[in-house]
Amino acid sequence: MKRTRDYRKLAGIAAAPGVAIGRAFIRNEEVPEIPKRKIAADQVEGEAERFLNTLHQVGEEIRRTQRLVEMEHGAELALIFEAQLFMLEDPEIKKQTLALIRERQCTADRAFSVTLKQARKMFEQIENEYLRMRISDVMDIEQQVLIRLAGGELRALSALRANTVVVAHDLLPSEAVQLGQRRVKGLVIDGGGANSHASIIARSLGLPTVVGTQSASRQITSGDMVVVDGEEGVVHVNPTAPILRSYRGQVQRRRQRQLDLNARRALPARTRDDCEIALLANIDVPEEVQAALDHGARGVGMYRTELLYLGYRLPSEEEQVAVYSRIVESMAPHPVVIRTFDLGGDKLSHVLESAPEANPFLGWRGIRICLDVPSLFKAQLRAVLRAGVKGRAQLLLPMVSSLEEVRRARQVLAEVEEELRQEGVPFAQTCELGVMVEVPSVALQADAFAAEVDFFSLGTNDLTQYTLAVDRGTPTVAELYDSFHPAVLRLIAMTVESGRRHGVPVSICGELAGDPLAVPLLVGLGLESLSLSPGLIPEVKEVVRAICLSEARELAAACLTLKTGAEVRQRLEEVAARIEK
Ligand code: PEP
Ligand code: MG
Repeated sequence: MKRTRDYRKLAGIAAAPGVAIGRAFIRNEEVPEIPKRKIAADQVEGEAERFLNTLHQVGEEIRRTQRLVEMEHGAELALIFEAQLFMLEDPEIKKQTLALIRERQCTADRAFSVTLKQARKMFEQIENEYLRMRISDVMDIEQQVLIRLAGGELRALSALRANTVVVAHDLLPSEAVQLGQRRVKGLVIDGGGANSHASIIARSLGLPTVVGTQSASRQITSGDMVVVDGEEGVVHVNPTAPILRSYRGQVQRRRQRQLDLNARRALPARTRDDCEIALLANIDVPEEVQAALDHGARGVGMYRTELLYLGYRLPSEEEQVAVYSRIVESMAPHPVVIRTFDLGGDKLSHVLESAPEANPFLGWRGIRICLDVPSLFKAQLRAVLRAGVKGRAQLLLPMVSSLEEVRRARQVLAEVEEELRQEGVPFAQTCELGVMVEVPSVALQADAFAAEVDFFSLGTNDLTQYTLAVDRGTPTVAELYDSFHPAVLRLIAMTVESGRRHGVPVSICGELAGDPLAVPLLVGLGLESLSLSPGLIPEVKEVVRAICLSEARELAAACLTLKTGAEVRQRLEEVAARIEK
């Protein structure tokens, strides 16, 4: 495709709010073919040394970024870079490249490029889906080393300039977390949906993001000036001066609004008729606890622990105890809901040997994996129970679809408690066990579940995808993915109603909880506890403080009679417009 510096506007899906203005960096841009050229025999050793030095320099760059991410987002997140270092230090890759330099008199560029081409082919054939998807790590390494060898400026993720907008064809959740560095200002992804995991992580990192652009990574060139409008879901490439001026004004106004909201963060989250709504934080990495506290969260409503497992090795029980204890302690006396590993779907880990699946989101995921791999599950349960002595830890099971799963999980929990007792290891004697309501069967059977669980947490991201049979990460069906669909609302209402009947608390941790438009409806449906991205708490609190419970109930009752998601949205927009006045 012909690339020009002309102005273009690309449409996509708004995935993380805010506006980012910066220069584009195309992730995994094709590395140009290296010309075949033989070097003289007396240059061979010099070339080999040049190659080894380059590997060393790139390794140092990656370690620098790793330290940066570690400082800003913690050691667990920084583990992700080990995948790249692991590949960079792979003895086979080194050996083969050196053999091509020494035996065939290839340039270091050519030798490395040929070796990596083979490595890529090998990755494409790997059965383990997680490893196969790590091909982007191979490409990243290839890009970094070849650019360095060519004497060019390093433009890889590990050496981005300030004010960079990363543009990618697709992005794994594990790659998204690498963007947690100050130099990255925004994100544009060809694939994905508003609630794909990369989008959720982008929201946690506060990165304005547009996804589902289909071809942005081909239409944008590294170095282009880009405006990412995460509110409207559009990307302006090489914007004209008036467009740029208008967006700079918007950035200024947002900053001011954030300051105003921060000044009001200590105010209680109470409706005008004095009903308290608990606002808790969803966290993806332990370091987000600070943001949760800063924004006045009343606990952690869901900690997505699986990100601990996306690196290149398993965290031990002791490591988990340390991480969970830190969170539980800093949140005490408020609760911390630790969700057991929700691996599978788009969050794969190389540590699990899994056969390729046609529908990973309907496959080996969440509680199914935990029950099938007891060593994994037990270590986590032990760690949560042990961390529980530092405050109030609760357990949450993801992707539950039947009561048998809850019963089996309870049995493993009892075994683990007995083991800890026998070993004389201190642990929380009472640890509540809840389930995610994210598969419709649980909402439909909520009465039966209520008799066997301590709390419900509505996972509307998956509940929407499973109720409407719409993949949450596929842009072509993104328009059909609608959490305001009356069928989804009905399942939420049924769950809240069952919880109320049985005295089982119900909260919501799906992304709907952080959507200011949805808040009056959720409160009206009877939800008294919302868990959302820490950065969204101040905005949601403003909405809570502006509404009346009695009016919200009327609104919810009216919405439940509507026939389409569009009608619900329209009604909620009318309410939002009244609140803003
Ligand atoms: C959900 O499905 O709503 C949820 C909170 O879990 P996740 O987004 O991690 O699948
Ligand atoms: Mg889910």
